[in-house]
Amino acid sequence: MRAEEKSHEKRYTGIDFFRLAAALLIITIHTSPLAGISETGDFILTRIAARVAVPFFFVTSGFFLISRYNYQIGKLGAFVRKTALIYGAAILIYIPVNLYNGYFKMENLLPNLIKDIVFDGTLYHLWYLPASITGGAAAWYLVKKLDYKRAFAVTAVFYLIGLFGDSYYGLAEKNLVCSRFYALLFQVSDYTRNGIFFAPVFFVTGGFIADRKEEAACNETQCRDSEPRKMASVKDGVCFGLILALMLAEGLTLHHFQIQRHDSMYVFLPPCVYFLFSFLLQFRGKRHACLRDVSLIVYLIHPMMIVVIRMFAKLLQIQGLLVDNSVVHFLAVTAASVGFSVAAAGLWSRYGHRHKQRNTDTDRAYIEINLENLEHNVAVLGRAMPRGCELMAVVKAEAYGHGICEIAIHLDRIGVRAFAAATIDEGIRLRRCGIRGEILILGYTAPERARELRKYDLTQTLIDYDYACRLAEQGCTVKVHMKIDTGMHRLGFDSDFNIEEILCVFAMEHLVINGIYTHLCVADSLEEEDVRFTKQQIANFYGVLRQLKKEGIRIPKIHIQSSYGLLNYPELKCNYVRAGVALYGVLSTPDAQTKLQPDLRPVLALKAKVILLRFVPQGESVGYGRTFVADRDSVIAILPVGYADGFPRNLSGRDSYVLINGSWAPIVGRICMDQLAVDVTDLADIEVGMTATLIGSDGSETSDAPTVAMDSGSITNELLSRLGSRLGRI
Ligand SMILES: *Cc1c(COP(=O)(O)O)cnc(C)c1O
Repeated sequence: MRAEEKSHEKRYTGIDFFRLAAALLIITIHTSPLAGISETGDFILTRIAARVAVPFFFVTSGFFLISRYNYQIGKLGAFVRKTALIYGAAILIYIPVNLYNGYFKMENLLPNLIKDIVFDGTLYHLWYLPASITGGAAAWYLVKKLDYKRAFAVTAVFYLIGLFGDSYYGLAEKNLVCSRFYALLFQVSDYTRNGIFFAPVFFVTGGFIADRKEEAACNETQCRDSEPRKMASVKDGVCFGLILALMLAEGLTLHHFQIQRHDSMYVFLPPCVYFLFSFLLQFRGKRHACLRDVSLIVYLIHPMMIVVIRMFAKLLQIQGLLVDNSVVHFLAVTAASVGFSVAAAGLWSRYGHRHKQRNTDTDRAYIEINLENLEHNVAVLGRAMPRGCELMAVVKAEAYGHGICEIAIHLDRIGVRAFAAATIDEGIRLRRCGIRGEILILGYTAPERARELRKYDLTQTLIDYDYACRLAEQGCTVKVHMKIDTGMHRLGFDSDFNIEEILCVFAMEHLVINGIYTHLCVADSLEEEDVRFTKQQIANFYGVLRQLKKEGIRIPKIHIQSSYGLLNYPELKCNYVRAGVALYGVLSTPDAQTKLQPDLRPVLALKAKVILLRFVPQGESVGYGRTFVADRDSVIAILPVGYADGFPRNLSGRDSYVLINGSWAPIVGRICMDQLAVDVTDLADIEVGMTATLIGSDGSETSDAPTVAMDSGSITNELLSRLGSRLGRI
């Protein structure tokens, strides 16, 4: 899903541009441009200031890799694979340079080779890549197992240990134990500047900034103006400047007293990079993905360019001009590196991606999710709710067929903090994809799974008294919501008789009752009789609450309404509305009459490709049971979607239509498990490969889910929730 690309929030232009600046800073480290002018100036530039560059790359990687809502394990795998691939390629590219340097002639080649591959890099600058892999993975698991605070504490301790093996080594050396420890350490890795002591703290910082940003965005969804952002930007910029100055002072002091063994790590480096990154984050605008590729290639290739420039100068006998003048040398290496990288990135984007453009998801039949509409619906429902009432997004049944993780992650991103699932396993999936906040299990969970409820911090519904007792008996404290049966007679404590039992449950030691709710069974109807029944249900519920209050029980959070409950009884003042179907922008039936009629927009579309066009002569039949016989020479299009994908077989022979090329085409014959046929004889310009719309809009026409559902003899909820398993989603 390309949610990030589509998001209306602007891209991180500031970060994109600084990537290139950081790559150039790294070239300064390896060319010392100011060496010919001022020794101290060069030290300040290359040994202190330029040291922000690599940590900046780590924070950037952490920002996109490690944030809580992005805990799909696949992401780490992809990051590791990609980095390893680049590393492998870089090692191979530099073998000639290694040969030239006599690298392979060193003693103890194998152990050293292993050490270099794992920690130091086979050429001086390549350590960055293994450090990315180790540091990224370490930070990932730390944040996952602990929280940011503790992950930060752990990585900070490692950074501190690293410091004393780097810029502060002169102090550690004086202590016998310390110097032994570091001597041992340096046998394994030449520096502490690696994936264990150096990189993790920056990755954690990146993830932290990403999550903090999300939270901030959630808190100020209404005020999107730029004033607070400008203020924050100025503040971050000033802090960056101040801390950079402190870091310069730190570096010069250490240098003066000759304490440094190496000069990559400073006390002020992590806060410096933190503020630098936060500052750059505020600059939004166009995306410059090419800068990312160019800066990476510059980073990888510039040592090669140093060699090339030297050889070139030697060949032309212009060393005096090109190599000995440090500024010219730097500029030459930079020009060669950037020129090469732009050319390589250009070639790559032209030819490299071509075969990747294919999206296998859309080859056959697929669901298209419109997250902007989802966001719109959240806002519309929010406005319909009374003050203080919060949305509990019902994402059971694969989020009504929309894809539970994709939907929940996006809702989490835009600030939804309460979710409802039907089963414990759905709840666990939500946690695994990084969902925070409350997750209520609406249905039955075997009491024996209490430990899992607790482990994943899920809230279980108490479906009756016996269930509550059995759950409490597990001896494991779990959060629960108590469900009251006020007339639906499905799940819940009976509201008429069992006030004693309810009181008893409130006294149970292992149950933390955070909520109490009921469910309405005819809230969708505005018929007089149904309204009376619903009002009775509501009265029963409040009756229970009154009695509890009388008994001195503090009333936890309450909720009554689902989608129709909100639309027909918006005046109720509860803590939550459990909205399902309306959240996805549809109602259960096509001509639903509701008191509120908010502008909801469908989130889902179902599409399929025309895979075959066939000519069927008059009198021939199509499909199982030969239910359709062509009454004229016909053109039939085959769509690779069937009832196994959740498209109801019941629609066969019911005068149902799909949209192709903006026009309606009737479904003919029986819908099969994996295919269906439509008659396109009357449509012009139909070709194989065109996209048919089974649910959703095409041009000015719309095949809406409630109508399709009604035609199949069901309601939207069932239709959507069955589109579950086999369809790809984009
Ligand atoms: C499914 C469900 C909902 C959501 O219902 P919608 O009509 O889709 O909004 C709310 N509450 C309970 C108990 C449910 O089972």
